[in-house]
Amino acid sequence: METAERYPTLHVSAHPLVAHKLAILRDTGTDTKKFRELVRELTWLLGYEAMADLATRARRVQTPLEETDGAEVEPRVGLVPVLRAGLGMVDAMLELIPTAQVWHIGLYRDERTLKPVEYYNKLPDAATVQVCLILDPMLATGGSAAATVDILKAWGAARIKQVSLIAAPEGVATLSDAHADVDIHVAAVDRELNERGYIVPGLGDAGDRQFGTFAGPASEPGHAHDIDETAEVVRRLQRDLAGRS
Ligand code: URA
Repeated sequence: METAERYPTLHVSAHPLVAHKLAILRDTGTDTKKFRELVRELTWLLGYEAMADLATRARRVQTPLEETDGAEVEPRVGLVPVLRAGLGMVDAMLELIPTAQVWHIGLYRDERTLKPVEYYNKLPDAATVQVCLILDPMLATGGSAAATVDILKAWGAARIKQVSLIAAPEGVATLSDAHADVDIHVAAVDRELNERGYIVPGLGDAGDRQFGTFAGPASEPGHAHDIDETAEVVRRLQRDLAGRS
């Protein structure tokens, strides 16, 4: 069964503008400035879809002509960009929902085991928002996403959604199996992870392509030095995925 059919919480955008912009984003000839613009535009479109079910409450509004019925978004919304690639998605979301709070949780992916390691978390004791949107352009192994959801649930967030540009089937499976109540909004689900933890066909390293940091083969994901361990983690995820079909 295809990933998109298997997971009811997975929402793959069917919008033609999303498909058009995603193709340009993937293109290796797209430069850093254009890449950043496209991340912003795609986030805007996916964010619009991801927030389509936010509750509203009625409010009266005075137009220059008369008073009329209006609406306002009810829940407080928190944006949680996954550092560093998720930062490029924040401004677009804030254009859509300027009242959103932005909370940073720092998780890095151990380059050998691909496991998330927490290094920054300044969330206050009790949740200050009801709905959290986790922003990460690439849902690759799903490990960081699942760990971020763990943190946000323990914090008290009532509703959590993941917004990514591209997902790997392995990442969707990991996140959905760990948290079946988390909606996942993406522009595309790609074929697979490669042995270095990259999504293929993907777009390469979303952080490097946004920030112009092309450091060669040692840049994330999948540092070159212990590629065997990384490949073994990917093979395990793929075996798990195959075992589900
Ligand atoms: N992170 C990226 O930036 N790209 C991938 O393909 C996987 C994880």
